Amino acid sequence: MINHEKYTAYCGLYCLDCIPSNKKLFNILNELENLLEEIKFDKYAELKSKTNEKFNDYSKFVEVLNEMKKLECVALCTEGGCKKNCKIRECVKEKNFQGCWECKEFKECELLDYLKGIHSIEHNLEMIRKYGVNNWADKRGKHYNWL
Ligand code: SF4
Ligand code: SF4
Repeated sequence: MINHEKYTAYCGLYCLDCIPSNKKLFNILNELENLLEEIKFDKYAELKSKTNEKFNDYSKFVEVLNEMKKLECVALCTEGGCKKNCKIRECVKEKNFQGCWECKEFKECELLDYLKGIHSIEHNLEMIRKYGVNNWADKRGKHYNWL
């Protein structure tokens, strides 16, 4: 049985839905980086840039690849992963709550505003409140609004 409590972040996100927790993505990025280095694709890109100027930007691509790799969350929110100095996490702990779902102010809370613009935070918090932290996961909303 999946331990949904473990994957439920203080703010009401479900950690495994986050792009920074997407193991498949980071495995592919690491594999791609290793392969590109192994076959010295930078030299090949230099050669190809003589006939296709887009390859002049190859170093930019490598830079972006590195930045993407840095997005990986190595731990769950409740284990200190995600944002290092998360004001939401600090606030929840100060109030001795398990998560924002226990807070009467979650609808008006400004700390959650940024997340509300991207994720179904209010819906999730209502579901956790109604069904409990172990039984809400199958009722969670779209993680990213654009999906
Ligand atoms: S660190 Fe903060 S923003 Fe990230 S999942 Fe945890 S509570 Fe939410
Ligand atoms: S005020 Fe309430 S809803 Fe806002 S971050 Fe703190 S615990 Fe969460």
